[in-house]
Amino acid sequence: MSCLMVERCGAVTFKRSEQNAIHVRMLADGRLSTGHAGVLLAERRGSYPLIDLHILKTSAQQGEVESGNRRKVKRLLSFQRYCHASRLLRGLVPHTPGSLHLLDDDYLGQAGHMLSKVGTWNFDIFLFDRLTNGNSLVTLMCHLFNVYGLIHHFQLDMVKLHRFLGMVQEDYHSQNPYHNAVHAADVTQAMYCYLKEPKLAEQLSPLDVFLGLMAAAAHDVDHPGVNQPFLIKTRHHLASLYQNTSVLESHHWRSTVGMLRESGLLSHLPADMWQDMEQQLGSLILATDISRQNEFLLTFREHLDNQDLDLQLASHRHFMLQIALKCADVCNPCRVWGLSRQWSERVCEEFYRQGDLERKFDLEISPLCNQQADSVPAIQIGFISYIVQPLFLEWYRFTETSLLSQTMMGHLHKNKARWSRLRYAHTHLDTQTHPHIDEPEPEGGGGEGESIP
Ligand SMILES: [Zn+2]
Repeated sequence: MSCLMVERCGAVTFKRSEQNAIHVRMLADGRLSTGHAGVLLAERRGSYPLIDLHILKTSAQQGEVESGNRRKVKRLLSFQRYCHASRLLRGLVPHTPGSLHLLDDDYLGQAGHMLSKVGTWNFDIFLFDRLTNGNSLVTLMCHLFNVYGLIHHFQLDMVKLHRFLGMVQEDYHSQNPYHNAVHAADVTQAMYCYLKEPKLAEQLSPLDVFLGLMAAAAHDVDHPGVNQPFLIKTRHHLASLYQNTSVLESHHWRSTVGMLRESGLLSHLPADMWQDMEQQLGSLILATDISRQNEFLLTFREHLDNQDLDLQLASHRHFMLQIALKCADVCNPCRVWGLSRQWSERVCEEFYRQGDLERKFDLEISPLCNQQADSVPAIQIGFISYIVQPLFLEWYRFTETSLLSQTMMGHLHKNKARWSRLRYAHTHLDTQTHPHIDEPEPEGGGGEGESIP
């Protein structure tokens, strides 16, 4: 462990307490530790809260070396792939015979074409991820940084930028059905759409845009695929480190700061500037804690009622970035049905996996995590009614009923009605198994043909 872990922790001095906790755990248990009720939590690279029961069956040390090498190779390959992709995107296609397979050229060409429509609301992030060979987050971020001229504005080193983005993408857990790098890319794409809203776009500074995109890309990094209550009841060290408050969000932020420092991306900037950037990133990422939803919603509503938002003020712009990121994070039900449904199935699958773990280890099954009792339609209707709809109603007001807001509200209402029909069908017709969501597309093909801003 890890020279990667030593590198990472060595670079992140303020994570000392986290590092110590891991060190003690390693000395005592030889990398594995037994949590409450026998749930095994494996640590990887410093603070990686991986929940992996399979690790018991293999040699931990050998697995580490192999996975370390795999990561290095993957990072190298993705860097080469990006260099090629960026040449393609600029229209500089290399003519060296055999420099890249024809198939790759074709895929990257299609990915490049998709990027030309990255600001449209029906952007298919799943397709984009396949076309970029699992590099959607890195490719998207590099593209958006170019679009906004952020590399030039902040005098960023391209190699450091790519190293940082590669680390972020890699530290998302691809085995999570929902909280993986594709979700991060999806949130980033939504954030870009929101930053383009006329009400916001005219007022945002390059720093606002930089922070908004960075926070979106990193807001769930290293997510373990279980929620905070699970970490608390299994006595995970992150829960005690962050005193059971915004445990995951604090970890996402601190991990991001660690990667920023390890990559040296901002090291050329004055100390007060990069320190301020780190703090603002923290404030944005911490705002995605869903348990703080009401606090933000009430403040947002109050500002709109009083019409006192002054986007000339940095503090008000920051607040709106927090709101935009919160909207982007929960915007799945506002997407066209074909995309929205996939996200719904994925998030419920992640909940059910946690429920299965809890059942297996005689822990109380968390709300929404019981596959036998909590159906996908029921979970989605609750999520839309209590979280998504109230937030997007205020966003709709803020944007002064922009075209994008109208499109999103249209999808939201249709998707909610559709889940209601599916729940009804599930309750009345299907008494045996969990429903598969295969209701035929209504006229209009699920909204793809609608006006897309
Ligand atoms: Zn998220």
